[in-house]
Parts: sequence; C-alpha cells; structure tokens
Amino acid sequence: MPMIDPERLEHGLVATFAAAGASREEAALIARHLVEASLRGHDSHGVGLMPSYLDAIRTGHMRLGRPLAIIRDLGALVVCDAGHGAGQVMAHEAMKLGIARARAHGMAVIALRDAHHVGRIGHWAEQCAEAGLVSIHFVNVPRSPAVAAFGGIQARLGTNPFAAGFPHPGAPPVIVDFATSRWAVGKVRVAMNKGELLPEGILLDAQGNPSVDPSLFFADPAGVLLPFGEHKGFGLALACELLAGALTGGATQDGSRGESVSNSMLSILLPPGSFAGDADYAERVEKLASWLMRDRESGRAALMPGEPEITRRRQRLTEGLPIDQTTWDAMTTAAAARGISDLLASPLP
Ligand code: NAD
Repeated sequence: MPMIDPERLEHGLVATFAAAGASREEAALIARHLVEASLRGHDSHGVGLMPSYLDAIRTGHMRLGRPLAIIRDLGALVVCDAGHGAGQVMAHEAMKLGIARARAHGMAVIALRDAHHVGRIGHWAEQCAEAGLVSIHFVNVPRSPAVAAFGGIQARLGTNPFAAGFPHPGAPPVIVDFATSRWAVGKVRVAMNKGELLPEGILLDAQGNPSVDPSLFFADPAGVLLPFGEHKGFGLALACELLAGALTGGATQDGSRGESVSNSMLSILLPPGSFAGDADYAERVEKLASWLMRDRESGRAALMPGEPEITRRRQRLTEGLPIDQTTWDAMTTAAAARGISDLLASPLP
C-alpha cells in the first residue's frame, strides 16, 4: 500500500481543488479537512474523497464561491443556508460565527442547512474546543438513505452522525464523534476497495438477509446498513434527522436519492464560563478523566474518546498516510484530469 507524505499531498490537493475552480481559501480549507481526517485514521472521510468532490464540483452539486447566507438571526440563534456550498467552507464559517455568538450571548445554536458534505463532524467539535467551547452537533444526510429503521430492511435514514466536543485543559479535547449506523458508508467503501469482508451485523443484502460482502451495499438493488445499538442508535439517528433537517428547514429524507452527498447540521455551543465557570469546569473534567482512566494503572487499554485519533495522527505524521492502490489510482487520475500531473509535486503555497 502506498504511504503518502501528508504535507506534500495537502499541497497537491490545494492545487487540484484550485484548478477545479475553488478560491485559494476554499481549496485550503477543503484540503486541510481531508488531510486531517486521514491523519486521524478516518480514511472514509479523508483524502480519498477528493475524486468524488471534484465530480460534485463539475456537476454543480458542490457550489464554489458561495457566501454563507444568514436566513434568521436572533443573536444566540442563527439559521444559515449553505446553498450547497463546499461543506468544509460552510461549516468552518458557521462555527466561526457560532463561537463569536456564544461568547457574546453565553451560548449559541447554529443551524447550517443544505451544505455539500461537511466531512468528519469531529473536526467542527475540535474547532469549537480550540476556542474553549463545549459543543454538540447533530447531522443528517438527506437524499442518501443507507440505513434501515430498527426492525426494518429498507434504507430509510442516512448514516446521520452525532458529535460532541469538550475542551480538556492541559490535554487533548474529548471528542465523541460517530455515525449512527454501525459503520459509516465510507468505511464500507474502504473495506470493498481493500477486498476485505465486513464483520457480521453491519449489513443486510437487498433481500434483507445478513451479509458480510461490502460490495452488496453498492450493488443494484443495494443492500442496507444497520443502526448501531439497535433501537437506541435508531432513536439517535432519528433525533439527528429531526434536529438537523426538520427543525432547521433543511432537506429531510423524502424517498428521493441525490447524486451527491449533502448535510445539514444543528450545533449547540456552550462556553463553560456560562455555567460553573472555566476553572471549575477544568477541574471537574480532569478529575472525571482520571477516574475514568484509572484502569490504565492495571495495564488496561481504556481510552478517552478523541484519544485514538490523536495517537493515529502522531503515527501517520511520521509514517505517512496509507492509501490503498484503488483509491490512490482514482485520486491521481482525477488530479491529472485537472492538469495536476503529479499530486505530490505541487509547489509549496
Ligand atoms: P468510529 O466508529 O470510528 O467512532 C469514532 C469515535 O469513537 C471517536 O469519538 C473515537 O475517539 C471514539 N473511539 C474509538 N475507539 C475508542 C476506544 N477504544 N475507546 C474510546 N473511544 C473510542 O466512527 P464512525 O462511526 O466510523 O464515523 C467515522 C467518521 O465519519 C466520523 O468522523 C463521522 O463524523 C463521519 N461521518 C460523517 C458523515 C457525513 O455525512 N458527513 C456521515 C457519517 C459519518
């Protein structure tokens, strides 16, 4: 498997997205997000998405150069319409706005509706945590039904991710970030590209029979993913659909299928200073983390959410990004079609 230098690849991605029509700032935000997701081990949401993003730009499903439109502004609550702008740009702007509003009003709720794919949701929780804020994010994936309702066999909901981020002064933030399906779609695609089978309990084939063959998810008729945690994961997925879609006025599942992925996201930003105070919060988080991780003293591998990503990032910064040959071929072909003949040889920005 090729091991790719993340820094050189990031320059190549910036050059490729710029060649596809993105402004310098848009290209930098998209490239940064994809490289960070890969560095943190979420290959399903990393650099391998580049060919599909380029396709979405070509077909107009990802619209470049869009300003974030504010539809309703109540100060602490802002409804934004992304108009299918690049998700990495729209969500970045929406979180910047949310951070400013949370500082001004003691808390903020930001509804971001109808963006192109916003990628790894933990990235947005990290942006808030870097600013010292706790945040909660509910996301839907309209027109991309992939997951059965609990007890059902047809695709009804998206993989509707949930994330929450908590600053942990003196340590990396606690980042809880996952799809509400047992596996994210991109993870099933990565398994298919690597020629691997799935564990049991992830997938049903088009007839509703359990299967471990990832290619059946992409077959016609398509298979369906199962929610995690049985009725509980289904309930959280539905809450994501209702909060990110129905409540914000963004698109919700209506039986249609889009050609490209879009997301709406409801984010709640909470400064610890609005509650018991920054110092009190910092002390409690630290005490709780030590209590939770006490099993480490006996050699157990207990981890805080967010920790596996930090460890993987450290490792991949030195070893490089492992990218399977199928994905790498698709990336280099897509870049070449935009005039970037060597993805790893773009000049430094
Ligand atoms: P996952 O199953 O890998 O779970 C990741 C979460 O679990 C992280 O918070 C991680 O720190 C934590 N974790 C992992 N191992 C742990 C351990 N041993 N102990 C404690 N915590 C641990 O995530 P996933 O469901 O495969 O989702 C992958 C990514 O896909 C996420 O970043 C998600 O936001 C993204 N996603 C995006 C969309 C979209 O439409 N934009 C849709 C679905 C998923």
